[in-house]
Amino acid sequence: MKKTVRDIELKGKKAIVRCDFNVPMKEGVITDDNRITAALPTIEYMLEQGAAVILMSHLGRPKGKPNKEFSLEPVAKKLEELTGKPVIFAASDVVVDDDVRAKAAALKPGEIMLLENLRFRAEEEKNDEQFSKDLASLADVYVNDAFGTAHRAHASTAGIASYLPAVSGFLIEKELKFLGEAVDDPKRPFVAILGGSKVSDKIAVIENLLNKADTIIIGGGMAYTFLRANGFKTGNSLCEEDRLDLARELQAKAKEKGVKLLLPVDSKCGDKFAEDCETCFTEDENVPDGWMGMDIGPKTIEIYTNAIKDAKTVIWNGPSGVFEFAAFEDGTKAVAEALAANEEAITVVGGGDSAAAIKKFGLTDKITHVSTGGGASLEYLEGKILPGVAALNDK
Ligand code: AMP
Repeated sequence: MKKTVRDIELKGKKAIVRCDFNVPMKEGVITDDNRITAALPTIEYMLEQGAAVILMSHLGRPKGKPNKEFSLEPVAKKLEELTGKPVIFAASDVVVDDDVRAKAAALKPGEIMLLENLRFRAEEEKNDEQFSKDLASLADVYVNDAFGTAHRAHASTAGIASYLPAVSGFLIEKELKFLGEAVDDPKRPFVAILGGSKVSDKIAVIENLLNKADTIIIGGGMAYTFLRANGFKTGNSLCEEDRLDLARELQAKAKEKGVKLLLPVDSKCGDKFAEDCETCFTEDENVPDGWMGMDIGPKTIEIYTNAIKDAKTVIWNGPSGVFEFAAFEDGTKAVAEALAANEEAITVVGGGDSAAAIKKFGLTDKITHVSTGGGASLEYLEGKILPGVAALNDK
């Protein structure tokens, strides 16, 4: 178990907090402030405990150079609005300089300061020792609350933790609790639903979950590599020819371990990858020539939703079809609704496309936990240690 802000003394301390303020912006205006509001509970808790709070984040990809377009100044303004407190914006092209040091030194308990975009410095993503020390020198304790970058060893997510007491904020605590309990201590039956475009992106997840889940449900484009490997026709569906042996091996391993691995028994197809294409349903696993499997079919939906209905733990990563097109959203929607309807189960949605799908169908509130970090949650499901979590102090 990792220490959290609750486990340390904050009164009179300066805390430097890695947040995820990588918000969407259009012409300098923040178009969605969800990530900023999500960070408020940790920030407000620390202020109440008597800490002075120095916030830091990356925004976009300025590629290691200062670039006004990616300045965090609009985030400072938004934070002022949301907290009702002044926020000192430490504008510096090099993130930490003498002026920033002086501002940090003068910061009093209850006050908030925000550093400039960490990725104005190439040293950030290189996990540079000196830059990590420079950041650490501003504060007495380090708090990481940015799950979205926890799978990266950067100066602000990993390096800095060598020089200060290091704990998590509430957001990372929540991610670890729900992802951790689901993967490592699941109530059974434990059903994992995997989808998305490619098998090659999900091999490590499937291999890890083969040791943990009772049932693995495969949907999306990746299903067709499995179906082809099993001798079915897949038409123009996404299929990774070089992964057919792997698909057979994964199925053999599932059998050996007594894990049910479910594949689509029918599909909804399109004659091209487009919103306005002609559509057809297949009778069985085979996709006719000239057609592309773009969603699971009604028989598959029934089998998959039944499996979800009886589960006590469900993890979902990757859509079951091309849910961005209305004609191919039914499978993903049915999976999302089955998760939402299973009130007995712990339901965890890995970030990225599945989180977008849950949001599109208005079901976010019915899910136990929707992860905020696409890449980080995928690596967690792969059984990898996240550097930004590993660097934190143990309880
Ligand atoms: P990923 O980025 O690997 O999680 O894949 C997500 C993408 O997979 C989404 O944009 C879906 O549109 C796409 N996808 C899902 N099912 C299919 C399919 N049957 N054929 C092609 N793409 C798909």
